[in-house]
Amino acid sequence: MDMDSNMSEGPGLTDAGLNMSNYTAASDFLAALLDDTTLQQSDYAIARAFWYGIVIVIVLTGMVNWVEWGLLKLRLRAAAANRPRSTNPFNSVVPFLACCTAVIREVSYHQITPTNSWLRIPAVGSILLIVIYFGFIMGLQFFDWNYPGAQYWEAQGLRAGWLTIAQFPLLLLLAGKRNLIGYAVGVSYERLQVLHRWVARVMLLTATIHGGVQAYGWKKYEVMEIEISTDSCIPTGFSTWILLLWLVFSAAAPIRNWSYEIFVVQHIITFIGLVVGIFYHLPSTALSSKIYAWIGIGLFIFDRLVRTLIYAFNNIKPANSTLHSLSGDVTKVRITAPQIKKWSPGQHVFLSIPELGFGQSHPATILSVPSSHDNDLVLILRAHQGFTQRLLCLAKLSSTDLSQGAQEKENVRKEVAVQEMKEKYFSLIGGPYGGSHSDFAAFDTVLLIAGSTGVSFTLPILLDIAHRSKNQRLPVRKIVFTWVIRTILCKEWIAEELQQATESLLNVGIVIEVKIFVTCELDPTENLMKKAECNCGKVEGPCCCTDSGIEKRQNVSNTLITQASGELDIESCSSKSLPQTQAKIGNPSRSPCCTIESGRPQLKPLLWNLLDHAKGETGVAVCGPPGLVSCVRNTVATVSEQRGSNKGTGAEGVYLHAEGFAW
Ligand SMILES: Cc1cc2nc3c(=O)[nH]c(=O)nc-3n(C[C@H](O)[C@H](O)[C@H](O)COP(=O)(O)OP(=O)(O)OC[C@H]3O[C@@H](n4cnc5c(N)ncnc54)[C@H](O)[C@@H]3O)c2cc1C
Repeated sequence: MDMDSNMSEGPGLTDAGLNMSNYTAASDFLAALLDDTTLQQSDYAIARAFWYGIVIVIVLTGMVNWVEWGLLKLRLRAAAANRPRSTNPFNSVVPFLACCTAVIREVSYHQITPTNSWLRIPAVGSILLIVIYFGFIMGLQFFDWNYPGAQYWEAQGLRAGWLTIAQFPLLLLLAGKRNLIGYAVGVSYERLQVLHRWVARVMLLTATIHGGVQAYGWKKYEVMEIEISTDSCIPTGFSTWILLLWLVFSAAAPIRNWSYEIFVVQHIITFIGLVVGIFYHLPSTALSSKIYAWIGIGLFIFDRLVRTLIYAFNNIKPANSTLHSLSGDVTKVRITAPQIKKWSPGQHVFLSIPELGFGQSHPATILSVPSSHDNDLVLILRAHQGFTQRLLCLAKLSSTDLSQGAQEKENVRKEVAVQEMKEKYFSLIGGPYGGSHSDFAAFDTVLLIAGSTGVSFTLPILLDIAHRSKNQRLPVRKIVFTWVIRTILCKEWIAEELQQATESLLNVGIVIEVKIFVTCELDPTENLMKKAECNCGKVEGPCCCTDSGIEKRQNVSNTLITQASGELDIESCSSKSLPQTQAKIGNPSRSPCCTIESGRPQLKPLLWNLLDHAKGETGVAVCGPPGLVSCVRNTVATVSEQRGSNKGTGAEGVYLHAEGFAW
């Protein structure tokens, strides 16, 4: 039989009349089956179509992002020029766009509340994006699918293979810290991590289709044994698939969180193995597919190179950290980093103190802004079990806390394996990274919500607005700073900064309300009275300086417990009650204060009330435990829906930025 004429023409390859027990006939048939000369053309086009789709999405998202950025800039300009209602350009310019934005936000902000700390469910917006991505890949996989003859399975498998390799550069683009996609669409790298993981999962799926469907075809035509014994693609492909499977499996939240350092090391080693595997596996006949592998490697090297250069620059002049232990197992780290002079609120750095763990680098959000703390970076880090625990140990016994005995210090020195206790520790700083949220100064009303150490995200936003408002009129009229903490003693973490910021804001006429919710104490004021930090020394509530004595304080404390509605409003120190003249002068003996409540905040009434009084768009920022973050997400989405924001009801829109200290 003339194999050639039978296999490459007509309605497609057929095994009709072939005796597969004849090795030569079976080998020839297999060779024809594997011949991808024609298939390569269409698969290469499919891989290109994949990239056209990705580029279109990036460009469109980038454009939306830049338009939003431009509109916020316009608001800032309008406010600086004293034009009224400067936070509302949408309604006057493009009501339709504002309505679309509101609808998209309402859908995408929702998030299913996680039931335990191991489970991470992305917000609806991310889920939709993942579903669309999956649909796009499946659409390309089955697009124009009627391949004739015996090559049907082979062709389907090859297309899945092409789609797998085509996704490789995207996988790496989404992984980098100096993230090109992130810069284009205005999203920071840590928020893209969820997409990085899902692209890997879809790659695993297409790689499985690639191998599985081809294997099915070989089995069907009884050429499996010859294929296994003659084609090096089988062992290289299978081992590469195993590596990809391991990468995906080991990156799942429970394993990733079990030991982060081990996760990172094995992830990089496995990734290198994967790259080697890909190069061995890609056939020399499909050379153009290697382009994708090379682009992926190029992107990886580019990211590492840029990061290394910036890291080297940041650390040319050594940074020094001073450690202070605070209530609630928190360490306040103050870093003098001569090379890092600029960062924006909400950005984080990677802190490494070589004495506390070689090669360990931990992310922490910068609590300070460049204009505060003499341009030092200030971090607050809660102690977990590793680096942060050692940091706290050291802070407790560092020379800034001289209360401890020599023997105890010696024990800790041994425990944390530090040569000697010092006042300052040599530190290496990576970053700053992140901080991709909108400028909160450009909203009419701002609600900042933090849970515990999440305040290191919301406080710098407040400090930034406070600082800028001194030099320039801003659109923002009112800020509500909400902080949920376990015990009122945690207030010491930021007492000074909060007081300075609130004073500055009051001085320029921006309404500021500080609401503290204490979840683990029935009567938060009891502790507070033991440990008040107000300058005047005459304390009535946190940073509420009045002339009242102990007796009056006791009354306030009692009122706190008995107030059924929950919200404590200490009249004497509310921003409204401050006479304008006094506020402008900034009487040092009378500082703005906060309200303190026992229990969790009632988010819906809080937000609803705020929106009732908003005269333009409201910005909400939240950072804290997953439960709090998803609760705020759902509340913002629901309240916006129910009020019909930007849908002709007169209700203004709500922007939300949520951070979670995790990826
Ligand atoms: C962008 C970002 C900003 C953060 N900002 C703050 C902050 O301002 N204040 C604060 O208290 N915490 C912050 N965190 C969390 C903080 O980085 C971790 O709690 C800390 O790294 C835990 O170190 P450990 O060795 O003591 O942890 P372990 O006890 O070993 O583990 C505790 C948890 O931290 C995770 N983790 C450990 N090392 C790292 C690492 N290098 N990178 C990421 N996660 C890690 C683990 O997966 C685990 O879930 C932030 C995290 C991220 C991702």
